[in-house]
Amino acid sequence: MDFEDSDEGDEDWSKPVNDGDGSFCSNTRNSPKVSDLNFPKKISTDIEHPRTIIHIDMDCFYAQVEMIRNPSLRHVPLGIQQKHIIVTCNYPARAIGVTKLMTIKDAKTKCPSLIMVSGEDLTEYRKMSYKISEYLLKYTKKIERLGFDENFLDVSELVNSRVSKESPSQFSGHLYGIQDNKADLSGLKQCGCGCYQRIMLASNIAQEIRDGLYNDLGITCCAGISYNKLLAKLAGEKHKPNKQTTLLPEFTLQLLHSLPSTRNIPGIGYGMSKRLRVLDIDSVLDLYNYNQEKLITEFGQQTAKFLKDISAGIDHTPVVRYGLPQSISDEDSYRDLNNIKDIEKEIDILVDNVLKRVVEDGRNPQTLRVTIRKSILKDDKLVIDYGNRESRQCPLSQTIFNNKDTSTWKTPIVELAISLLNKMVDVTKPFHLTLINICFTKFLKTCSKDISTFFSSPNSKPTNSENDEFFTQRTSSSTKISPAKGIESFFANNPTLNFHKEKRDIKAVGRQNGMVGFFKNGGKRKESESNKNNDDSKRAKLDTIFLLTHQSHQFLIHQNYKI
Ligand SMILES: [Mg+2]
Ligand SMILES: [Zn+2]
Repeated sequence: MDFEDSDEGDEDWSKPVNDGDGSFCSNTRNSPKVSDLNFPKKISTDIEHPRTIIHIDMDCFYAQVEMIRNPSLRHVPLGIQQKHIIVTCNYPARAIGVTKLMTIKDAKTKCPSLIMVSGEDLTEYRKMSYKISEYLLKYTKKIERLGFDENFLDVSELVNSRVSKESPSQFSGHLYGIQDNKADLSGLKQCGCGCYQRIMLASNIAQEIRDGLYNDLGITCCAGISYNKLLAKLAGEKHKPNKQTTLLPEFTLQLLHSLPSTRNIPGIGYGMSKRLRVLDIDSVLDLYNYNQEKLITEFGQQTAKFLKDISAGIDHTPVVRYGLPQSISDEDSYRDLNNIKDIEKEIDILVDNVLKRVVEDGRNPQTLRVTIRKSILKDDKLVIDYGNRESRQCPLSQTIFNNKDTSTWKTPIVELAISLLNKMVDVTKPFHLTLINICFTKFLKTCSKDISTFFSSPNSKPTNSENDEFFTQRTSSSTKISPAKGIESFFANNPTLNFHKEKRDIKAVGRQNGMVGFFKNGGKRKESESNKNNDDSKRAKLDTIFLLTHQSHQFLIHQNYKI
């Protein structure tokens, strides 16, 4: 049986699509001033940049949702709390020095007047997130969600249909590389493929979208506009909050090569950046200049090509339309769960949480999966092995869901989850668990009234329920994430794996900062609705995590953190 959405190791890696875009004009300049522009000597007449992509990223998303629910929070410093950390905060709080992933204690020291709102219950964020995607569907069906607060839009068709009629004359928002975007752009020679006009029009569309989101939903966001996903995302980060930045092919290398670390490229994770550093590759420019043959020797043909491409801004990965989540799960991490009573209590809580969302979703799951992570004994000390997760799964009898009283569903599922756990843990001997994940998958399609059905993708086929024979399947016991796969996953069809990796990293961040209690018993609760093609929630605040993971991992390696 093919089990999609396994946490790691068995992903279906999609190959880059050779749809011809992603080339770049290889000319960069040091000065961004229009007057100094120095144009490519040879401009191709082929369509080098056929796609037009917009990346939309909500500003401090959870904080905004809370401010919309309670406008009195708008002008006071506001932090959103999960366990003992601030997961995000509004701009008044940032002005006083509060940052994402700061401990509550540190945040309160920095800003005694900080108002804290619990962000443990994601329901309102999820609702707003779907409203946003629903709004974006007005512009294109090609929308890819990335977490709750980011969306890629492939607006190529819309742009092509409008560009001849509208012939736009100016860019909206910032233009990367041009210091004053009001400057006379007449000297800016256009790429021969016509992308200049298309990207200009897309910048106007992005402005329209952002105005619309604000008028309809009261929410502000940033946008990046370019000709592939990588560049749209990187461009959008240039001016924040509530701003937008357009990147023309001419300025691609200038932007990429201004990035001080390969980690600034979304999808280059800690493992890969570490391997690159061994080769003296620190910045994106180092990577760009590095000998291709040596890179192939080190990483193999495919990954070397991927790295070279990305250092030059070449990204062919399509915007993948998302469908309904293919799994709904919840997990928690623990300092040390070592008796069956505590485990039963935790499983009860997790199943309860996931079932609430299954009821909301409206479809019945056919498979239950339990994943655990054990501590391992190293030099007589218990050490978390972050790469070591173990799972068991079994079919769910559909008779459970026939009972209209949804409160009856929990007991048989908790029992089933415990029986799965017993297959992985011999509870008659000492054991130490640091994580439990409860996941429902293989959903049966029903006529749900849920908003998410609106996003039904052609690939979310109903699955058959014939397979009722009880079985268990061992998945990914001690699977390490390959960095090579990890980086590609970001831009491939399935970013899930990478986000799982980052998910672990956020916990490591907590440890590094010595956040006692971050792991509660504990850790940071993570809810997820994942999809073959995208992941709806794991990336709550990935941009920050990207910055922090590096150090935390080093810490774990050097200090061999002890429980
Ligand atoms: Mg955001
Ligand atoms: Zn072009």
